Amino acid sequence: MPTNATWHALDFKYVWHPCSQMHDHAHLPLLPIKSAKGVYLYDFEGKSYIDGISSWWVNLFGHNHPYINKKLKEQIDQLEHVLLAGLTHPQAINLAARLCALSGFDKCFFADNGSAGVEVALKMSYHSHLLEGKQKPKFLSLENGYHGETLGALSVGGVGLYKDTYKGIFCDQLQTPVPKDEADVQRALHALEKILEQEHQNISAFILEPLIQCAGNMHFYSADFVKQATQMCQERGILVIFDEIAVGFGRTGSLFAFEQCGIKPDFLCLSKGITGGYLPLAVVLTSDGIYDKFYAPYEQDKSFLHSHSYTGNALACACANATLDLFEQGVVEQNKTLSRTIQTCMQEQLEGLKGVKNLRSCGMVFAFELEGYKGSQRLSLAVFQKGLEFGIILRPLGNTIYFMPAYTMSPDEVLKSVGAMVGVVRALT
Ligand code: PMP
Repeated sequence: MPTNATWHALDFKYVWHPCSQMHDHAHLPLLPIKSAKGVYLYDFEGKSYIDGISSWWVNLFGHNHPYINKKLKEQIDQLEHVLLAGLTHPQAINLAARLCALSGFDKCFFADNGSAGVEVALKMSYHSHLLEGKQKPKFLSLENGYHGETLGALSVGGVGLYKDTYKGIFCDQLQTPVPKDEADVQRALHALEKILEQEHQNISAFILEPLIQCAGNMHFYSADFVKQATQMCQERGILVIFDEIAVGFGRTGSLFAFEQCGIKPDFLCLSKGITGGYLPLAVVLTSDGIYDKFYAPYEQDKSFLHSHSYTGNALACACANATLDLFEQGVVEQNKTLSRTIQTCMQEQLEGLKGVKNLRSCGMVFAFELEGYKGSQRLSLAVFQKGLEFGIILRPLGNTIYFMPAYTMSPDEVLKSVGAMVGVVRALT
């Protein structure tokens, strides 16, 4: 572990950091983090930063959580990893059983990151039609959606920033509009109806992020649309995949977002917060009906072959089981109070400030747009940089600034975070 004096000597030119324009860091040095505790990250100079975006939405109970640490340490002395083919282990078995009980699904397929989970659901949906003799080569998704950055997941995404460059190499997909607001729901359903009339026989699955398109600039949309669109697809034999990789595990105010939509998809993809933000893991939950289609003697060649080396990793599963233990302490209920506290604080301090538009919240997601920025840098980078000065990590999506804190944030830390956001807004408008 480098000391304060020696981290400067580390040569980090070999790491190609994702999503950052490395060119930016020619004049804005990367921020090396030495340690973390609760909602705080600490650099090598001893300066603290509130993790306002839960390290890309994965960290639910704060960093370095004593209980998750303990469970991880116990597991590491027992079994670190073993392949999940032919062999199994108690952490994976328990986790699958608990997730099925909590969600009402019957089977849990493991993968090792969100994009891989989406690939599993896409392949499984296509394959399950194929097993019934139906060749359905297309996927349907929502405009402005985001499902990860492997090729299949990117194909069904709708955010040009990530996908346009690779459009020459995608699988076949169709897109239907997401409602802009409540008044737009009927138009969006009508557009979906038209696509389904022409294409329903060719579509394996409809994939969507229920309630919030997170990477799509924190676009909140109607539960009723999710319900009706899902019904329309299911009635026509199209399987429905809910990508709750970002919105699952309490983010939208219920343990799973689909609970608020009054409908159950055929596949539920979970990742990110599943391990409390400790280790990569994803699951795809589905029904016995789907599972049974693949259940046949080897000679019939019906198996679902999707086998990542680290699938169902024991350490990741131990963290996920510890995370579920923490949820058993009434977190979803307690978050209602925390959500109201944050909402009130943001309304009192940010609403009406110059440039702040469309302040909104859903569960433990808070967002607003910042308008009228006149600086020469792009806004997202300027906000990130100013945020560091004010002691908070913010990484806007375009001009959408969002706040997605850990569920353990104290009222004092809420005040501090919102104060920092006010500082950033005032400095930039
Ligand atoms: N789906 C959604 C809705 C996401 O937000 C993300 C990640 N931001 C993914 C899929 C991909 O997950 P991962 O980054 O773990 O591949």
